[in-house]
Amino acid sequence: MSVNYAAGLSTYADKGVCGLPESFDSKEELKGKVEALAQLIRESQYLVVHSGAGISTSSGIPDFRGPKGVWTMEERGESPHFDTTFEEARPSLTHMALLGLQRASYLKYLISQNVDGIHVRSGFPRNLLSELHGNMFVEECGKCGKQYVREKVIGVMGLKPTGKYCEEVRGRGLRSCRGKLISTILDWEEALPEKDLNRAEEASRRADLALTLGTSLQIKPSGDLPLFTKRKGGKVVIVNLQPTKHDKHAHLRINGYVDEVMSQLMELLGLDIPKWDGPTVCESSTPDQKPLPAIAIKKEVKKGVKKEAKREGRKRLGEPKKEEEDEEKIAVKKERAEQTTEEHEKDLQGCTDSNPIPVQTQDQDLSRGGDQNEGANSPTLSL
Ligand SMILES: [Zn+2]
Repeated sequence: MSVNYAAGLSTYADKGVCGLPESFDSKEELKGKVEALAQLIRESQYLVVHSGAGISTSSGIPDFRGPKGVWTMEERGESPHFDTTFEEARPSLTHMALLGLQRASYLKYLISQNVDGIHVRSGFPRNLLSELHGNMFVEECGKCGKQYVREKVIGVMGLKPTGKYCEEVRGRGLRSCRGKLISTILDWEEALPEKDLNRAEEASRRADLALTLGTSLQIKPSGDLPLFTKRKGGKVVIVNLQPTKHDKHAHLRINGYVDEVMSQLMELLGLDIPKWDGPTVCESSTPDQKPLPAIAIKKEVKKGVKKEAKREGRKRLGEPKKEEEDEEKIAVKKERAEQTTEEHEKDLQGCTDSNPIPVQTQDQDLSRGGDQNEGANSPTLSL
């Protein structure tokens, strides 16, 4: 089953600049620029990639603002063409090259606006990935936050209930959570997922090199994240056929197909592009790879702040403190992570040779708009 993603969103007038002409670097120009990119990556300490719908067009999923994009076609009163369903979409060369870059320890964090779930289904470690606009294959418990990566698209959009209930069991002899599961796909003007956004911001600040692939960078806050890297003294490299909102901030601007760029890049770096053998979900990178310690530290701080705030709130409401519960939640989370891996092992494949895992995901990038909430979590579009 496929879902018409665009039709599932509410109507929204300002979808940004659509259908701008594409331009292409000459063969020689492209080669020189990719060599420069390879050198920047070799020299980088912390590479973060930002992906948009442009990396999934070769998987058969239309982008949004390209010449045949969803919103471009909508402006013309036409329907976009899907060459595949979300379930049948195969990762593109770029998706798999990103997995190769991560495994080679060049790529430290991946931030995607795509909702098609292909990054997850390609086996990219979920703990090194922020999906800022949701995932068509993921539903989340509104009560305990557990996420379920399904093999089929959820079919519900806009953070609405999916009709299913959480089966998480928090302890022996206890009943399952039974919280309502909701879609993770954002509708226009809905706030971005806090955890994913926080991690994306932290990684962007920490990065010394931000590489954007197949995104016009028009959607806020996702499109502005590479600027965090630049403000901290890092470099931004933009690969896109159409002009982007932040071209003037780019250290290197490449006008070429992302698959072509990534293919040349991997060769220059001497890296193989992993083969894809079907949907694979990898919950986390190998245990010895401790992701984003800086983030972990900051999170602790934020958690502390929140805890205080919660306590204050409870005082006012006359409720008891819930410190023990918080501790219990952490324990539950750990347990959940273990369970998830076991469950996944049953029905899917390994995410790395040493780290077997299973599951599936979605992909497709969203665009969002809404100018009122600038500065807040809500995605806004500005040109
Ligand atoms: Zn739950």
